[in-house]
Amino acid sequence: MTPRDRRICRKCWNAKITPVYHPETVTVQYDGEEWSLFIPKMPVFQCPACGHQPKGWGRYEIGQVVNHALAKKAGVLMPDEIAAMHDPDVYNYRKIARAITSFSGKSVYWASISCWEDGMCVQGRAMDAILRRYRRHLQNCKERTAE
Ligand SMILES: [Zn+2]
Repeated sequence: MTPRDRRICRKCWNAKITPVYHPETVTVQYDGEEWSLFIPKMPVFQCPACGHQPKGWGRYEIGQVVNHALAKKAGVLMPDEIAAMHDPDVYNYRKIARAITSFSGKSVYWASISCWEDGMCVQGRAMDAILRRYRRHLQNCKERTAE
C-alpha cells in the first residue's frame, strides 16, 4: 500500500495540487504604512484537472515571496543577510537575541530573529537600523581579533 498523498485533490481525486505562477500586485501593511508590491511570480496552488484551489495551501511559500518583495522594496536587510551575520558554529537564537538586546538596549525576542531569517516576517525599519549597527559591531570585533 502506498502512503496517502496529501497533495491529491480532494475534489476530483484525479490529480495532485501543484503551484502555478502568475503576476500579482498585493497590498501589505508595514511600519504603519500601506505598501503595494508587484509579485512577478506569485504561487497559486491548484488542481491541474479541475482547477480546485484548496484554502490555506502554500501559506508559507506565499508569505516568503511577499516578504522577500517587501524587504527589497523597503531596502531592509534580506533574510539571508540577517542569517549571515552570525557565527554558524554557535548558532543559537536565544544567545543571538540576548546579544542584540544587550548591544542595543532594545529587547529582541529570539522567535523574531528566526521569523526574519525564515522570511516569514520582515523587521521594521527601526529594528533594521539596530541590526545594521549590530552587524557593523560584529565586523569590527572580527577585524580587531584578526589583527
Ligand atoms: Zn481536482
